[in-house]
Amino acid sequence: MPVEPLFPLGAELLARDEIGLLRARQQVGSSFGGRIVLEGREYINFSSNDYLGASGQESIKEAWQQGITDWGCGSGASPLVTGYTKAHAELEESLADWLGVEAVLLFSTGFAANQAVIKALLSSRHQQWQDKLNHASLQEAGAMSPARLRRFKHNDMTHLAALLCPQSGLVISEGVFSMDGDQAPCQELLALTRDSGNWLMIDDAHGFGVHGTQGRGTLDLQGVAPSDIQIVIGTFGKAFGTAGAFMAGSRQLIDYMVNFARDYVYSTHMPPSQAVASLAALRWVQQADEQRKHLQALVQQFRNGAAALGLRLMPSMTAIQPILIGDSHVAMEVATRLRESGYWVTAIRPPTVPSGLARIRITLTAAHSHEDVCRLLEGFAGIVRQWPEVGCGCDA
Ligand SMILES: *Cc1c(COP(=O)(O)O)cnc(C)c1O
Repeated sequence: MPVEPLFPLGAELLARDEIGLLRARQQVGSSFGGRIVLEGREYINFSSNDYLGASGQESIKEAWQQGITDWGCGSGASPLVTGYTKAHAELEESLADWLGVEAVLLFSTGFAANQAVIKALLSSRHQQWQDKLNHASLQEAGAMSPARLRRFKHNDMTHLAALLCPQSGLVISEGVFSMDGDQAPCQELLALTRDSGNWLMIDDAHGFGVHGTQGRGTLDLQGVAPSDIQIVIGTFGKAFGTAGAFMAGSRQLIDYMVNFARDYVYSTHMPPSQAVASLAALRWVQQADEQRKHLQALVQQFRNGAAALGLRLMPSMTAIQPILIGDSHVAMEVATRLRESGYWVTAIRPPTVPSGLARIRITLTAAHSHEDVCRLLEGFAGIVRQWPEVGCGCDA
C-alpha cells in the first residue's frame, strides 16, 4: 500500500510546474553597468535594482577592497560579542546625519531587519496593519507575529482608517512598492498614525538613493522628515550597489533593538569591509544628482514610448516600470521573446503578484542610455505585432 510521503516535495514541485509557476535560477556571468552576461551572451539588463549604477563605481569598489585590507574578510562575531567595529559605527552615524534621525542600526539583509523589528516589537496585545502589497519579508514576519495582522487595500487610506484602533500597534508600508513601482501616501500615513496614537514603519528599500534631496528617499520627496516616522528601513542592495540594510529611528528604539531583536543579537555582524563600502556608497549616492536626473529622463522616455505602443503601464513614476500582461504563460512568452532579442527582463508571476496580474517588470537604471531604452521599445513593438492583445491598453 503506498504511503503518503512525510514531505511531498515531488508532488508540490509537479503541481507548481503544471500551473506554469515552477521557478529556476539563472546562472549569471557578470552583471553591472546596465548589462548582464548569461551563458556567454550579453544582454541589456532591465531586471536589476542597481538604480543608479552604483555597483560598478570605482570609488565604492576601491573602498571595499581597502576595507578588506584594513579589517580582514569577516566580522568574526555577532555585534554584542566582538563584531561591532568603528567601521560599522561610522556608517551608522553618517546615515543618521544624512537622514536627520537620532540613531541607526545595521543588518546583514533587509529581510532580517524586517523580521527583527516585527518580532522584537509586537506582542499579542498589539495589532499590525500592513499594505496588501508589502514585501514578502514584512508579510512573512507579520504572519508569524502574535499581533493581530490586518491587511489594508493597497494605498487605500480610507480602508486603513476604518481598520485602525487607537493606540494599538504598528502601521507598516513600503515607500516605493517593489512590484508596482508606485509610492505610498506618506503624509496621509503619518497623519493617520499620529491621530490614532499608533506607530508607523516605512520600508523604503526602493526609494533610498533614488528619490529626494541627496537621495534621502521617498519620505523626503513627499516632504516628510524621516525623524517623524518611528521606524524607517533602508537597504544597501539596491541603489547603494552593495548589500545589507539599516533601521533608522530614535536612540531608544535602537537601544531596544540591540537588547531584544534576536535576529540582530544572534547573527554574525556584517563584515566591516562591507560597512566601509556602504559608507563610500552613501557618499557617492549623496552627490549623484546627475544620475538621478538621467534616471528620471529614462523613465519618462520609456513611459511615453510604451504608451504610444498601447502597452499597459502602471501608475509609477519610479525606476520600476511594470507592463501588465495578465496571463502567466503569455508573460513568460513575452519575456522569452525579449530575451531572444537581447533584453533581459523578468516575468513576475503569482504568487509574487496577485493571480491574473502577471507582468513584465522593467527596471531602469542610470547606467542605461537613451539608446538602450529605444532598443527595448523596439523589442516591445515586435511583441505587439505578434501578440496584438499585449498592446491593447491604449488608454494613454
Ligand atoms: C529588497 C527588499 C527587502 C529585502 O532586502 P534584502 O537586503 O534584499 O534582504 C526588504 N523590503 C523591501 C521593500 C525590498 O524591496
